[in-house]
Amino acid sequence: MKVVKGKRNGKKVDVKEMPEASMMLLPPRPGVCQECATDHDPAMPHNQQSLYYQMKFQMEHGRGATWVDAMAHCSDDVKTKWIEALKTHGVEVSS
Ligand SMILES: [Zn+2]
Repeated sequence: MKVVKGKRNGKKVDVKEMPEASMMLLPPRPGVCQECATDHDPAMPHNQQSLYYQMKFQMEHGRGATWVDAMAHCSDDVKTKWIEALKTHGVEVSS
């Protein structure tokens, strides 16, 4: 485990960096999507902004999840509607 020397609020601290491989996530509660820990229609995208989804995806893929990843399982019609809706909120999704 890597130990980094640093300062915080003027005090010297040792920061232990946890390797991703040593991290574990507890499963989401029953009744919610087991991918993103959010209660949503399975035909709809995962909650791309869910901390659980981001952590799980990062651990499995080595990068953060995008909206394209979150809606990969959706029908083309659902994807089109979500991409349009996200655009109205200033989020550009390129597939
Ligand atoms: Zn989900």
